Amino acid sequence: MYDVVIIGAGVVGSAIARELSKYQLKILLAEKSYDVSNGATKANSAIVHAGYDPLPGTLMARFNVRGNQLFPELCKKLSVPFRQIGSLVLAFDEDDMEKVETLYQRGVANGVPQQEILERQQILDLEPNINPEVKKALWCGTAGVVSPYELAIALCENAYINGTEIELNCEVLGIKKAEGCYELETTKKTVRSKLVINAAGIYADRINNWVSAIRFFIKPVKGQYMLLNKTTGDLARHVIFQCPTRLGKGVLVTPTVYGNTLIGPDAQDVRDKTDTSINDQKWDYIKKTALKSFPEIPFEKTIKTFAGLRAEADTNDFIIGEAEDAPNFINVAGIKSPGLTSSPAIAEHVCKMVLKKFNQTELRPDFQPFRQSPMLEYMDRETGRKLKETDPAYGKIICKCEQISEGEIRDAVSRFPRAVTKDGVKRRVRAGMGPCQGRRCGAEVDRILSEQREAAGTQNAVKKGG
Ligand SMILES: Cc1cc2nc3c(=O)[nH]c(=O)nc-3n(C[C@H](O)[C@H](O)[C@H](O)COP(=O)(O)OP(=O)(O)OC[C@H]3O[C@@H](n4cnc5c(N)ncnc54)[C@H](O)[C@@H]3O)c2cc1C
Repeated sequence: MYDVVIIGAGVVGSAIARELSKYQLKILLAEKSYDVSNGATKANSAIVHAGYDPLPGTLMARFNVRGNQLFPELCKKLSVPFRQIGSLVLAFDEDDMEKVETLYQRGVANGVPQQEILERQQILDLEPNINPEVKKALWCGTAGVVSPYELAIALCENAYINGTEIELNCEVLGIKKAEGCYELETTKKTVRSKLVINAAGIYADRINNWVSAIRFFIKPVKGQYMLLNKTTGDLARHVIFQCPTRLGKGVLVTPTVYGNTLIGPDAQDVRDKTDTSINDQKWDYIKKTALKSFPEIPFEKTIKTFAGLRAEADTNDFIIGEAEDAPNFINVAGIKSPGLTSSPAIAEHVCKMVLKKFNQTELRPDFQPFRQSPMLEYMDRETGRKLKETDPAYGKIICKCEQISEGEIRDAVSRFPRAVTKDGVKRRVRAGMGPCQGRRCGAEVDRILSEQREAAGTQNAVKKGG
């Protein structure tokens, strides 16, 4: 019997798992995909929002602001790349200027620090490539950019090191109330748990509606993006938004944490919760909108396009709490933007709820809060230097575009949660993320993946034999 089963290893489920792993609890994180971070967490704008956008009083406002505060230390502990570069919301006319003023006031109400309304020349000094027709902008210093999938991977790895069981390829197929617990049927096994946390992203409505008569529904809203190569990295120096519309925060232009330029998203209502296809007809709108912020964008330097699905709940806010008619069943649903930003704060809050249920407050004395990145660039210098000296694989460059060595890729495919595909390798150590998108290094990455599969097979055979 588990104390807690968490359904879904996106950034939210993973953050909750890590937070709970600080305590004496038997925890299972069940993920239906072959890898963690394969839902909305792998395809979004990757912005750590400041918190001036959500309406005061909402859960989104509360968790956004607190999440933003928690990001720097969390990313440092888990060696996840994060850059607090600040954001600007541009105003081009009177109407925009009113919106910027409203956002500023919302920020004040939400408790957002480091906000200022800038005049035209101040904006041009900060962003030399911006449309000179800009009139004013809301500046906020606490916004940043992060690698969202690396964060989820790191959270899972750290939760695992601290004793959390993580089952991949483990879809929860049904939940029944049983005596003093819940019984969950999964594709791997049937498990019992005293408490269930539903962090299943766009599928969280389905899971809630199995257990609770208080139903809600989640609509997928697609947003698509273009990623430009690193030679465009100083086009935008901060996260650049235009004024929000009823469709959301709108098309942004931003440097990524690795120095590419990211442009998007739009907002497309879709019916199919698996539809992350690219609709080529939408590029005109995205490009035209982005050109209003930066009149000269080298779109020909696009190296990748992708789309993600927002989990839009019919309640229009995050749904976080115990279902009224299902004790010990906690929903963490409708986590659309700013869900990535909010994830550490949501985890903190949900953890408090769980601890209250179990009447627990004692931290595990052996909790290990740190995790080292598999990438040389983000390791502490001493560890990186030693690895390079002692293991020649760290001197053998496989991905020439991103300068990623065999040692880094080997690490990505061998430490838990292991990369089992080229995409998984890309998300852990960036091999294949450069201009050639893996065309030159793909075969070598495949070789390392199959060597790892063989090694894991041998280890399993030895274990069974023993
Ligand atoms: C276009 C777009 C832009 C965004 N931009 C930002 C941004 O800039 N900043 C920000 O803060 N937020 C942003 N967000 C929001 C952010 O991406 C999400 O809030 C966050 O990733 C949600 O994480 P999650 O863990 O709830 O969901 P997910 O990442 O979707 O994870 C849910 C997991 O549950 C698993 N699952 C589902 N059903 C089952 C089942 N039955 N059994 C087992 N596992 C199951 C799925 O496989 C998945 O891995 C954006 C979202 C989108 C789509």
